[in-house]
Amino acid sequence: METKTAQLLDGKALGLKIHEQLSTKIAQLKSQVGRTPGLAVLMVGDNPASAAYVRNKERACSKVGITSFNRHFPGDTSFNELQKVIHNLNSDERVDGILVQLPLPAHLDAVALLHQIAPEKDVDGLHPLNLGKLLRGEPGLRSCTPAGVMRLLQEYSIPLEGKQAVVLGRSILVGKPMSMMLLAANATVTMAHSRTQNLQDITKNADILVSAVGIPQLITAQMVKEGAVVVDVGINRITDENGKSRLIGDVRFDEVATVADYLTPVPGGIGPMTVAMLLENTVSSYQLTVNS
Ligand code: NAD
Repeated sequence: METKTAQLLDGKALGLKIHEQLSTKIAQLKSQVGRTPGLAVLMVGDNPASAAYVRNKERACSKVGITSFNRHFPGDTSFNELQKVIHNLNSDERVDGILVQLPLPAHLDAVALLHQIAPEKDVDGLHPLNLGKLLRGEPGLRSCTPAGVMRLLQEYSIPLEGKQAVVLGRSILVGKPMSMMLLAANATVTMAHSRTQNLQDITKNADILVSAVGIPQLITAQMVKEGAVVVDVGINRITDENGKSRLIGDVRFDEVATVADYLTPVPGGIGPMTVAMLLENTVSSYQLTVNS
């Protein structure tokens, strides 16, 4: 008997398609607005993973025609100094989006800093006003990673209404907004987390399973319902048996692919979708300046 293999949900391909669409849109809007869109990514300290993410974002921006106003600060930069920079960017008319790359060094209060970003420039969707709008179902800037998951599911016409969706992880960055977006799409949503008991009993019921935990290989084939849609948000750096460092997700890809109908790869799944949604949020803020 032939072994079944899940269809890939290709975030890389869809991400590139979105880049092209944004590029065309920017080319059309540029003469009306009189400038290109601008994104400021603030990074504090020298976390190598963060530096790689920031480089990625900068590359994507330059490809579609968004100007980067990135700033890199030493690890001991004070809260007041960063607050001042954010306030200046809030009133800088060339800048449509501001993002503080997380995590921040321990002496900085990330939540308090995110509060300083003007909500209309909060392209990461983490300001309480934007999170509140998500909760209320009002239009607003949406968190990039869960928005990327939703867009990928939509691209493959995955039905969500009335389906059992299980989200693993309850962070403000991914798990919580993810659950709200699935709920808004009329799925029946269960949230699981580090204190959840009998995880397999819960995941086994999922028509849509989203893992945003950060534990490599957590999700086994036994935990997945036959025919499920499995979205792997996790990004974990491991050293493999050949001593090589590489990225893997939360899902045991090879074995889960024999049970699920659809599955996202890592890398090439939600990572590129997150960047695409960041660019899209920046362009939406930019577009609003035409109408204001
Ligand atoms: P986090 O550490 O803030 O949250 C992890 C969550 O997992 C917590 O809510 C915790 O309760 C839950 N958890 C821990 N152990 C669990 C278990 N055994 N079973 C079920 N739940 C458990 O992390 P985060 O910022 O939400 O990110 C989660 C993962 O997603 C990480 O691997 C991160 O690198 C990745 N991530 C990827 C992207 C992307 O673009 N693809 C973006 C953001 C985060």
